[in-house]
Amino acid sequence: MSARILDGNRIRDEIKAELAGEIGGLKAAGITPGLAAVLVGDNPASQIYVRSKVKTSESLGLYSEKVEWPATASTQQLLDLIASLNARDEIDGILVQLPLPPQIDAKQVLLAIDPAKDVDGLHPVSIGNLVSGRPGLVACTPAGIIEILVRSRIPIEGARAVVVGRSDMVGKPVAILLLARNATVTVCHSKTRDLAAVAREADILVAAMGRPAFVTADFIKPGATVIDVGINRLTTAGEVRQVFHDASGPLRDLESKGSVLVGDVQPEDAREKAGAFTPVPGGVGPLTIAMLMANTVQAARLRRGARSARRSLVSS
Ligand code: NDP
Repeated sequence: MSARILDGNRIRDEIKAELAGEIGGLKAAGITPGLAAVLVGDNPASQIYVRSKVKTSESLGLYSEKVEWPATASTQQLLDLIASLNARDEIDGILVQLPLPPQIDAKQVLLAIDPAKDVDGLHPVSIGNLVSGRPGLVACTPAGIIEILVRSRIPIEGARAVVVGRSDMVGKPVAILLLARNATVTVCHSKTRDLAAVAREADILVAAMGRPAFVTADFIKPGATVIDVGINRLTTAGEVRQVFHDASGPLRDLESKGSVLVGDVQPEDAREKAGAFTPVPGGVGPLTIAMLMANTVQAARLRRGARSARRSLVSS
């Protein structure tokens, strides 16, 4: 059996096209949604993420602003910055790129963001709204996972869903979203006993652990839908040989690109045993920025009273 590949790039493009129409409607009503991206320090991965977020905003016609500060910034300086962004009407969304340097109290900074502008969906108010089924801004990666499932017509209602990972950013919110859509949800973590047996019960298996190719064939019920959230970079031939059954292609990639990306799921096993799965790269990853854009548009609509504007996303 060869599983259906759930193409995240295609779904991202579909969502971006819908958002472009929605943004056009808001602009015609005099509203240009605005996003401020705050980057502290010089973490290269964070720089790439922020650049890509700003570039996508611009390509969709949003107003965007990048605020870059040195790694020596203090918690108080960031709190003052957040207060000034909270006060500006043309800024609908504030995103603080994580991780922050160690001397900064990240929880305090995230808490300072006006929940109406919390486009990353990590503020306790956003999480409270999610848990209690109120409208609000939902964390981007979990919202993207629901978009993939719904747009791929994977039935959620009544399905057994197993989420491996319980982080505030991915595992917990995706479990709540699946529950809200009437799945029967089990959340697993590093202390779960006999993880493979629990995972094998899943019709929908979400792997969000940050462990390269940890989920192998014996975790997957034949025909299950497997959503691989993990992004792990392999940099040595030894690691590549350990992860892939047939390592010849990945070893060539390692040689030409210097690293190979792999998710938390062994990709050859997923292709063989699952009914459908998200590849890495090209599965969940592309949805995260698209959902950030969707959240910025939604924040603008809610904050600036354009409630009648069209809402197209299935997860909102
Ligand atoms: P965290 O490190 O915050 O959480 C990992 C979770 O996995 C924890 O709950 C941990 O359990 C659990 N876990 C770790 N090892 C095991 C194990 N051996 N068995 C069972 N559970 C385990 O990670 P994130 O949630 O932030 O990210 C998860 C992955 O998703 C990473 O690879 C990250 O790069 C990727 N990611 C991808 C995104 C995308 O856009 N595609 C966006 C965000 C993240 P415990 O709580 O017990 O420690």
